[in-house]
Amino acid sequence: MKPIYFDNNATTPIAPEVLNEMLPYLKDFYGNPSSMHTFGGHLHRKIEDARAKVAVLINAEPEEIIFTSCGTESDNTAIMSAIESYPQKRHVITTRVEHPAVLNFCKHLARKGFRVTFLPVDKLGRFDMDAFLKAVDDDTAMVSIMYANNETGVIFPIKEIGEILRERKIVFHTDAVQAVGKIPINVKELPVDMLSLSGHKLHAPKGVGALYVRKGTRFYPYIIGGHQEHGRRAGTENVASIIGLGKACELAKEHLHKEAGYLCSLRDKLEKALLDLCPDSQINGDTINRLPNTTNMSFRYIEGEAILLRLDEYGICASSGSACTSGSLEPSHVLRAMGIPFNAIHGSIRFSLSRYNTEEEIDKVIEIMPAIIKELRMLSPYGKKELENC
Ligand code: PLP
Repeated sequence: MKPIYFDNNATTPIAPEVLNEMLPYLKDFYGNPSSMHTFGGHLHRKIEDARAKVAVLINAEPEEIIFTSCGTESDNTAIMSAIESYPQKRHVITTRVEHPAVLNFCKHLARKGFRVTFLPVDKLGRFDMDAFLKAVDDDTAMVSIMYANNETGVIFPIKEIGEILRERKIVFHTDAVQAVGKIPINVKELPVDMLSLSGHKLHAPKGVGALYVRKGTRFYPYIIGGHQEHGRRAGTENVASIIGLGKACELAKEHLHKEAGYLCSLRDKLEKALLDLCPDSQINGDTINRLPNTTNMSFRYIEGEAILLRLDEYGICASSGSACTSGSLEPSHVLRAMGIPFNAIHGSIRFSLSRYNTEEEIDKVIEIMPAIIKELRMLSPYGKKELENC
């Protein structure tokens, strides 16, 4: 059965156009792009073609794009590169709501003796500019702040943060894995030095990503070995996936504006109906500066996982947090950082949409969710009062 898929911040289906472009390079054109012969040389040109397409999506220069294996590698590389490039500096700034690709890497640095500031957010998940201004000092080697949050969709003021850091000549990296392909990004007008993106969040396959590194930024490779990517990322290229990423970026560029409006209208319809039909429900996060495809909602006094299981019976896929943290029943670190009460955190669900969702699918969720919520509340072993005290 084809699922009704509302978990696109976890991963997206590969676009048919992307798969078509990739297939010959999984089958017939298996050469190594570093080889001298024509067979390999063709692949080298295809990689450069894909690099140009990725660059166009964010208005970068092709030589500013390094292909990686995923968003996590791009994030780790950016942070490590800045640290290696400024060895006399020992302070890193990030936020409490980053994806584990940044958060856990920064915790690792803290264990290694770096001073790391984890900035707070407010109750709508918004960036705390005052805390940031207080944290920046002459010892700050780099700052890594996500563009948009994977759980709530809340967008951070990357331009304003970057302007402050540029004046102080501090390296600035943004994890834009959830933003690229969903909202316009123009690095010519955005004061960031490095920016991460990931293929499988924008209808390219898993296992490919890219790191934008602004011309003139000091760079130190994280994966060391052969000369690939001009010595900036060793390892024989994942040719087919890189070609797929290029195509996915081309499609995203083509559809971005139209798609954002479409996704917003579907998302807003879903939110409004669920708020109206389900008592004790709320939206988590700022609804003004938010990705068009994401909603994070809480249904108090029940478990998000129970809702997911019931939705699953109807073939509906959603999420109760980031894909990496669900599976452990740990409450979301993002919602905790926002100070959301525990009884609401435990009943939180993320719906994340893509261009392939339809209004009929939204209507299906609206039709079945209120009954699921009502039924689960009746079954809940906890008294409402008890949960209120959590
Ligand atoms: N950063 C953010 C904001 C993400 O949402 C994710 C994946 O969910 C990543 C980084 C990691 O990307 P990848 O799965 O490609 O390693």
